[in-house]
Amino acid sequence: MRFTSTRGRAPAVGIGAAIRAGAAPDGGLYLPETAPKAIDADLALPDFAAAMLAPFFAGDPLAADLPAICAEALDVPAPLVPVAPGLQALELFHGPTGAFKDFGARFLLACFDRIGDPAGPLTVLAATSGDTGGAVGCAAEGRRAVRAVILYPKGRVSPFQALQLSCWGDPVRALEVEGDFDDCQRLVKAAFADAGLTAAHNLTSANSINIGRLLPQIAYLAHAAVRAKRATGKDVGFIIPSGNLGHGFAALYARAMGFPIRPILLATNANRTLADWKATGTYAPRASIATIANAMDVGAPSNFERVAALPPEQRKLGVELVTDDQIRDRIRAEYETSGYVWCPHGATAAEAYARLSDRVRDEATWIVAATAHPYKFAETVEPLIGGTIAPPPALAAIRDRAASSLSIPASLDALAHALQPHHEPTSA
Ligand SMILES: *Cc1c(COP(=O)(O)O)cnc(C)c1O
Repeated sequence: MRFTSTRGRAPAVGIGAAIRAGAAPDGGLYLPETAPKAIDADLALPDFAAAMLAPFFAGDPLAADLPAICAEALDVPAPLVPVAPGLQALELFHGPTGAFKDFGARFLLACFDRIGDPAGPLTVLAATSGDTGGAVGCAAEGRRAVRAVILYPKGRVSPFQALQLSCWGDPVRALEVEGDFDDCQRLVKAAFADAGLTAAHNLTSANSINIGRLLPQIAYLAHAAVRAKRATGKDVGFIIPSGNLGHGFAALYARAMGFPIRPILLATNANRTLADWKATGTYAPRASIATIANAMDVGAPSNFERVAALPPEQRKLGVELVTDDQIRDRIRAEYETSGYVWCPHGATAAEAYARLSDRVRDEATWIVAATAHPYKFAETVEPLIGGTIAPPPALAAIRDRAASSLSIPASLDALAHALQPHHEPTSA
């Protein structure tokens, strides 16, 4: 299988090269040349994923490792939990950092660890305050052929977020940058633009445009659809809380492969770019605005280019925009009627479901992606439900870890120095 750029001005490559590169050299995003066929197999997720993803890896040196990659990265429960008659939550937050980013990060790092060389490891450089940084740090811990360097802004993330970014052992390094999130992103961009640094440390990125993060998401959505179809006889309707559109693209691609999926709805927070595109047919990126579903605060979804590259019949979808007040009302209402506790992101999708007519509800088995554990957003959710949320065991275990990070000024020199392998982290 070859992967081509959405911009059509880069050579086609195999999966290993597409994962190593992240973006294509022409600035586009890699897409498989042809969509492999869906499978219908009654298997656990790691085996199901190894079978359905095999065509994407065919002909690449990574192909022989795919079963082991799936076994080590996707051995995380993804249960379908009934929430209301006709509605199930696909809980994607049972991984070690409590959000669906664990699936993509674990799969990607498992690939990097086989692409890299322990004598000169790859370095994943990530600036993040959200769920990705923690998931990448966790997925990199203990690896030999890839390490992770995570930048976050000093004093601008919650204490639990800071801990989740800085609690991982070698070869993970957390850098607390004296600046804001934009400074962190600027530093990362400057490092990638520096050919010397990029070569010296084999810099690579783990952001959501990497095809290596999308493939496992396609796999668990397909797996959920196959299971639900067996149980109900009906095709599935997915509602996906969306920001950068990686997850949403994964749902579209699983349907394009022929898995039993029909309607796909994207739920967004008050960031209007996708809703406006759906309403007007024109894509106009905007500056992002802050909401309580902050992992979806995106005004220029980085995977939009992939969605736009699909044939029109494959990119049919609906978009529902959900304001902060509507998110809060949905969390409250759902807790009162079913006892289910949504995180603010999942709640956007639950609200989109609540807006469906009875007729549309009857057409499919509806599945909402529950993208993060509500404990991660306890300060928002607890007042709405009038109770406390207990941490799941994985997140409780993070609370028991010690933070270790290195404070650096927001300069490329300081980052370059901190990238040196000999640098000892200090305890925070
Ligand atoms: C990243 C994230 C999203 C958005 O996913 P995209 O792939 O960026 O659309 C939704 N919910 C949570 C909890 C996230 O961390």
